[in-house]
Amino acid sequence: MPEKKQIQIAKLFGIRIFIDFSWIFIFLLVFWSFSSAVLPSIYPGQSFVSYLISGIVLSLLFFASIVAHELSHTIVARRNGVMINRITLFFFGGASNLEDEPPSAWVEIKMAAAGPLSSLIIGVILMYSTIYFLNRGQESLLLYSLYALGVVNISLGIFNLLPGFPMDGGRILRGIIWSINKNLARSTKLASIVGQIIAGLIITYGAFILIFQGNFFSGLWLVLIGFFLFRAAAGSYSQTLMIMILRKTKVKEIAQKRSESIFDDATFSTLYEHSNNLRQEIFPVVDHGDDIIGFISPLVLSRVPESEWSETRVIDFTKDFSEFPRIDEEESALKLLSLFSTGPELAVTEKAGNITGFVTLPDLQRYLSLRVRV
Ligand SMILES: [Zn+2]
Repeated sequence: MPEKKQIQIAKLFGIRIFIDFSWIFIFLLVFWSFSSAVLPSIYPGQSFVSYLISGIVLSLLFFASIVAHELSHTIVARRNGVMINRITLFFFGGASNLEDEPPSAWVEIKMAAAGPLSSLIIGVILMYSTIYFLNRGQESLLLYSLYALGVVNISLGIFNLLPGFPMDGGRILRGIIWSINKNLARSTKLASIVGQIIAGLIITYGAFILIFQGNFFSGLWLVLIGFFLFRAAAGSYSQTLMIMILRKTKVKEIAQKRSESIFDDATFSTLYEHSNNLRQEIFPVVDHGDDIIGFISPLVLSRVPESEWSETRVIDFTKDFSEFPRIDEEESALKLLSLFSTGPELAVTEKAGNITGFVTLPDLQRYLSLRVRV
């Protein structure tokens, strides 16, 4: 499902890059650990301000490394016909928005491997080039900062290769199982179980160093990552099932047929009665010539005090017909996933463009809850 609270920060190669608000905390955390711990320990004796400036530059470059990692996934995906239009930088790392599953096991393996490979290449180049200059006695805070960035990139690459689905390593594992058993659902289930085991191990290890080694910071960090991964691994199986079901479903199978409409001059009291009797989530609003003007959802009732319902007209809260998003009834239901990010309800049309009904986010959730069993 689409997430709110994200802002677009760039567009590269036609791919929109978003950051989740949680990323701001990560950025501050990374900045703080670079400037207060990492840099002073690898290159001591510099001024506070120079650590601060290097910390900011390093954090920005770290951020760019993650974008490069995610872009590598997307570029390989696109070359193999999997369209990804956006990347979101999340709590830790990023996610290329997959609204469909990859077409084959081999494409999955290539797509998943591209990210860690780019991190490892960036890391190795940075480390070797900085070591080259450091060995020639050219010591500077900048060189040590770039060296640290290299180490971070290599760790990022290795960490992502852990076989915990939905991390890259887990996706490679799923691709390998998939190429053997030719069954995407069962491969995902297996990879998701391995992912939960890996997450459990990360949490246990984090708790161990937190309690027995007194390393509060790294311990807590690992426990957090472990919980995040556990949830993602557990959720990824139902997500795959969901995508597989929606891919075979047409919009018209989920849509409500166009049913009771309401007159534009009706009052909120009438809307309330209608929604109680009919349990419809959206009503076409018609004029007395029976033409549709727009739509209204009974949810708007909550925006007006009950005492004013008898004087409030439906027309004043009607969503204009021309602005209402719509989808062809023959389209794949998979498209609904991205379209619901623009609003919770859509009008459904037939070939000629006439409205035949509508579909809401609750309709989709109901349809899936009857079919996805985990
Ligand atoms: Zn990745």
